[in-house]
Amino acid sequence: MEEKNLKISIAHFYPKLLNLYGDIGNVITLVRRCEWRGIQVEFCEINSGDKIQDCDLYFIGGGQDKQQAEVAAELFKNKEYLHDLRDKGAVFLGICGGYQLFGHYYQPHDKERLNGVSLLDAYTVAGKKRFIGNVTAETELVKPSTLVGFENHSGLTFLQGDTKPLAVVSTGNGNNGKDKTEGAHFKNVFGTYLHGSFLPKNPHFADYLLELALEKRYGEKIKLSKLDDTIELNAHNLLVGKAY
Ligand code: GLN
Repeated sequence: MEEKNLKISIAHFYPKLLNLYGDIGNVITLVRRCEWRGIQVEFCEINSGDKIQDCDLYFIGGGQDKQQAEVAAELFKNKEYLHDLRDKGAVFLGICGGYQLFGHYYQPHDKERLNGVSLLDAYTVAGKKRFIGNVTAETELVKPSTLVGFENHSGLTFLQGDTKPLAVVSTGNGNNGKDKTEGAHFKNVFGTYLHGSFLPKNPHFADYLLELALEKRYGEKIKLSKLDDTIELNAHNLLVGKAY
């Protein structure tokens, strides 16, 4: 299908609450990379109290424990529907605090456990140390395989069952600073600790998510045309292997 005849629906979960370190840059990247190709984008924000619409791709950013608690309650009300969306192939990307809520729970230091929505078979417990710094990691999902970003979290995330790591850390801490894993994925649900924001510096992964979302919508694989990613890849390459 010609790109100018394609359409995609993208939803941003709770942008007023979870948007740490400019995570909105991920949404801007997804929308722009469609618009630059002439693909029509239906975009919506989902804020507290809003009904969750049936979209092709959902994004949720990171945030502090307090904001996470409000979002956790909102998401939990829609747990079953979110599972239906996942099982129909919708694409989800969660960053840090949003990623943590895609698991079974997030246990902060000295506060009540936050229920996650179990889109991923994972759980998070607050660690004693805050991991802050750049991360370089290698994924098997896209070529080039390198992903870069910035982490700032005390949560330690552990993966179970069929939920696999998004990548293996070569610089930085990733999920828990112990097992060298970074992020997670199951079906078309993806989570990562990489702020930065993540997708502008990893355009190959942005296109990977868009192709998955278009495949879910049209029922066939769609290979997106190449864009000039010189600037994006210069920013990406500056970070590769750098801890700070
Ligand atoms: N509050 C969570 C933690 O510290 C998530 C932080 C974030 O989203 N950067 O682990």
